[in-house]
Amino acid sequence: MSMDELSESAENYLKTIYRLMPGGKGYVKPKLLAEFMAYAPSTVTITLQRLAKKGYLEYLRYQGVRLTERGIIRVARILRAHRMCEVFFHDKLGHDLIAAHNEACRTEHVLSEDTINRLEVFLDYPKFCPHGNPIPDRNLRIAEPDDIPLLEAGLGKFIVSRIAFEAPEVLALVIHTNIKPGADIEILKIDKINRVLVVQVKSQKQVIPMKFACVVMVKSS
Ligand SMILES: [Zn+2]
Repeated sequence: MSMDELSESAENYLKTIYRLMPGGKGYVKPKLLAEFMAYAPSTVTITLQRLAKKGYLEYLRYQGVRLTERGIIRVARILRAHRMCEVFFHDKLGHDLIAAHNEACRTEHVLSEDTINRLEVFLDYPKFCPHGNPIPDRNLRIAEPDDIPLLEAGLGKFIVSRIAFEAPEVLALVIHTNIKPGADIEILKIDKINRVLVVQVKSQKQVIPMKFACVVMVKSS
């Protein structure tokens, strides 16, 4: 199957738009995208216009941008490669959660679909990446997990299901706090004034920022 040539940077635009699309459907403002990607707004506009011309996104002057079906399929392909590679780097090569992610950020753009399919067989059909995020299947369907952000869970006991935003600074905190997928966590206090949560993990009390609690997803235990 031949694919449109897209640069690594263009693919990263699509990935970021996907992450920022409210409910996976709404429009994303180019200004927010520029902030997130740390590019000048003028650069962002040019790239968005080019991606719209190629059919990956819809660009409306006042609403902003959203991915088309073609754009979403492209993102699913990248996420599948990214998460499959992470399983290999983490489970087979022994990389930690940060290194596995960083290595996957590069390899996701260069490996063929055939190699990813072979990797899937080699790894015995993993369903989740080491950060707990679902791996899109061969038909590029992306599962929507039914979990909620730790920040919105309220007091009580939960199980960490995944780390929704795999930025290196977030993953550093995951390693430091042991708040990893599968971990039992109890929310003891929600401190709105200091914008922190007091939680207990493995009988250890910890104070974590609300910003971090936004991207840690949990299920009731
Ligand atoms: Zn991951």
